[in-house]
Formats: sequence, structure tokens, C-alpha cells
Amino acid sequence: LVRVEAITVGKELLTGRTTNTNATWLGKRITRLGTTIGEITTVDDDLGEISMALRSSLSRSSDFVIVVGGLGPTPDDMTLRGVAMAVGRGVRVDQRALALMKDHYARRGLGGVVFTEAREKMATIPEGSTPLRNDVGTAPGAKLEVGNSVVFCLPGVPSEMKSIFLSSVEPEIRGKVGTLHRSKTTFRLEGIFESDLAPMISKELREHPGSYIKSHPRGLREGVSRIEMDVAVVRKEKRDGDAEVGEIVDHIVSRVVEKGGKLKQRKGGQPVRRGG
Ligand code: ATP
Repeated sequence: LVRVEAITVGKELLTGRTTNTNATWLGKRITRLGTTIGEITTVDDDLGEISMALRSSLSRSSDFVIVVGGLGPTPDDMTLRGVAMAVGRGVRVDQRALALMKDHYARRGLGGVVFTEAREKMATIPEGSTPLRNDVGTAPGAKLEVGNSVVFCLPGVPSEMKSIFLSSVEPEIRGKVGTLHRSKTTFRLEGIFESDLAPMISKELREHPGSYIKSHPRGLREGVSRIEMDVAVVRKEKRDGDAEVGEIVDHIVSRVVEKGGKLKQRKGGQPVRRGG
């Protein structure tokens, strides 16, 4: 399985001033590719914290680590230095990164812009890394290979992060994962408690390795317990995945019916054959 991790950097994410929408967006996007993010860490704008988080991700043999935020011109933007520190490298002004920035300014009619120290900082990337074109903002991203892992550093501004992810990161992950299809369904059960459902879920997870089966309690209505269920599998063929999801749902529903519960509704996929 391809392992992806993300590190989101920024004090504002820890204090709650900014909602970490980049983490949820990356989670969804990467899941859609047929793999999952194994871990998302959020750290302060602090060299030691950034570097420790990256070392820790690399120690888990992550294939891809996506580090987001802190690429800007201000002193609290220190992600690239933290990343370099984690892998025992230095940082240096990269001519290709400067060229990308010059191009960015020129496209906005700001060809004469002076490369102050603060601007040059955005082109200062870890030794051995490749700058990534930012079509939306100023700071280029960076890609760095470390052993068998690839580390991507992306800006924190959501539109910039998404743009570089789609152009430079997603194709690489897709290439490693291969083309896989994710089959999934969501359905609602009534009249069963989560604790009675737990052993049924465990049984299906054992019988369908790699499947995702999750219950989300939705509270009681007139004393009747309601639970929303997500079932997903990732398989090479859509046909096989859809059939397996159908099988899992059938098994769970028939056991729920035996326990006196019922299937309330199902979104997407084929109608479920009722058991019991
Ligand atoms: P730039 O190069 O444009 O300065 P940056 O890489 O320095 O970007 P940050 O300074 O970390 O990015 O954040 C810029 C903006 O993006 C801030 O308004 C911040 O709140 C927002 N932001 C940063 N990280 C996230 C995140 N994980 N989710 C949502 N918004 C974020």
C-alpha cells in the first residue's frame, strides 16, 4: 500500500484561528486516488517542531509526505529550513525558483519588481530539491527526494496549495498507486446500537481485508437508535469492488435484521437485498 502523510504548519491552525481546511481537502483528494493519508500532523511555526514532524513521518517509511504552509516571505515562514534540517541539508537560493517568481511577477505586469531579501527567501529551498511552479501565488513549492520517500512542500494559502497539488503532486501519487477504483456506499440503519453492530463490522473487516467499514451514530429518534454506515473498498476493477461492497452491506443488514433492527435508506449503488 502506498503511504501518504501530511504535515500542516501554522500556529493559527493550533489556536483555532484558522480551520485546517487543507487537511480535509487533502484527505478527500488522496482517498479518491485509492489510498489514504496514514497520518496528518499539525505543528507550530517552529524549526524544531517542523523538523521533528518530518523525521517522524520519514521514519514510518512514508512514500509521500506533503508539508503545507510557511513558505512565505515573513520570518515565521520557516518550513523549508525545517525540512532541510530534518534531512541534514542546507538551503540555498535556487535560480530556477527565482525564474519561476520572475515569471509570476511578469505575468502580473510587475516585471521590474526588486528582489529584496524577503522575496529571495521564497526562492531559498533545500539543497537537492526541485522548485514547483505556483500558478496562483508567488512562493514556489518544492519537491525533495529522501531515500525512498518524496517530500512535497506546498504553500498554506488553500488556492495555491490545491493548484500545486493538482499539477505536481497528484500525478506522482497516481503513478505510484496505479489506477484503482474506489467503490463505496452509505446507508442508514435503525433500531440497532453501535455496540451490537461492532462485532458484525469486525467480522466483515476480517473477511474483506483492506475494506473500510465505519459506523457514525446519528442519535436517537423517539427512542430508536440511528446509525449511518459507510462501506468502501479499493479494487482494480470497478465491477469487483461494487460486488464486494454489496456483499458486505448484505451481510451486515441481514445480521442487523436478525437483531431486530432495519435498513432505513441507502444512497448510491444497487438496492440492498434484505436479509432475515
Ligand atoms: P504564502 O507563500 O502565500 O505567504 P505560506 O505558505 O506562507 O503562503 P501560510 O503563511 O502558512 O502560507 O498561510 C497563509 C494563509 O493560508 C493564512 O491565511 C493561513 O491561515 C492560511 N492557511 C495556512 N494553512 C492552512 C490550512 N492548513 N488550512 C487552511 N488555511 C490555511
